[in-house]
Amino acid sequence: MNIDGKQAAAELRVRLAKEVDALQSERGITPGLTVVLVGEDPASQVYVRNKVKQTREVGMISNEIRLDESTTEEALLTILAELNIDDTVHGILVQLPLPKHINEEKIIATIKPEKDVDGFHAMNSGRLLNGEKGALVPCTPQGCVILAKHHLGDDLSGKHAVIIGRSNIVGKPVSILFLQENCTVTIAHSRTQDLPNMCRQADILVAAVGRPEMVKADWVKPGATVIDVGINRIELSDGKTKLVGDVDFNDVSPVAGAITPVPGGVGPMTIACLLKNTVEAAKIYGK
Ligand code: NDP
Repeated sequence: MNIDGKQAAAELRVRLAKEVDALQSERGITPGLTVVLVGEDPASQVYVRNKVKQTREVGMISNEIRLDESTTEEALLTILAELNIDDTVHGILVQLPLPKHINEEKIIATIKPEKDVDGFHAMNSGRLLNGEKGALVPCTPQGCVILAKHHLGDDLSGKHAVIIGRSNIVGKPVSILFLQENCTVTIAHSRTQDLPNMCRQADILVAAVGRPEMVKADWVKPGATVIDVGINRIELSDGKTKLVGDVDFNDVSPVAGAITPVPGGVGPMTIACLLKNTVEAAKIYGK
């Protein structure tokens, strides 16, 4: 069966809209998210448009700062310093990738951790690793766990989760989250030996690689839950393009107990979790 990410994201947004209402009536706080976009990357523009629309739909304040491709690192740092002290802004998201002349690490480190709704600041990754309260956790990994629970129920204890990929954005944080859910976690990567055999051990298989349709049916234990994070655009024989995941969906679907489609799986959850983080930030740190 398919795990419907659009449906799960819509359910999460309904819950968030209620929390936004409560924050407004009980504490007079309207959660605010500011997205900063530098340059004209078309994919980033689509993401930002969706983020802005959905933020407003749940009753939050959404601001967008669009900057020219030639914006200097210094100018961006100045804008972030202003957003850091603006009490109406609870979440700051700088859309990545940034133009090459801007140092991404420096930008991420400049965002106040309490407003870092992407969860990429070292303070937030440290808090996540330590299991501390108040961590803002990266959005895509949160979405993966929510989707796994959508199919398996809330108790993931004892399940073997195999994660393919060890990036700071997806692989590492999603591994920590499944560990916190009392799963036994294996992290695989480009040097892993006999990857198909490793994947066949998984009750929950998360693919976060960036290689189109790499995971095949014989990599998957019958009945396993498959979460496909990959977003790859491939060219078809007629010259058109389409989006596919890291999992060969048609091949794996008959074997898996449940699988997230691409598009319509992890992607919609990522944006919903961004809104969730902004509401969390407003709840914990808002004045
Ligand atoms: P990275 O390129 O940062 O990391 C890819 C990981 O995959 C690395 O750890 C790499 O291993 C591993 N890898 C690469 N090739 C192989 C291989 N042949 N066998 C096993 N492991 C391999 O990618 P991201 O984590 O940023 O993203 C992964 C995918 O998820 C991409 O398709 C991206 O577009 C998508 N994505 C989707 C999001 C969503 O909202 N749905 C959000 C973020 C990303 P090593 O470390 O050894 O190099």
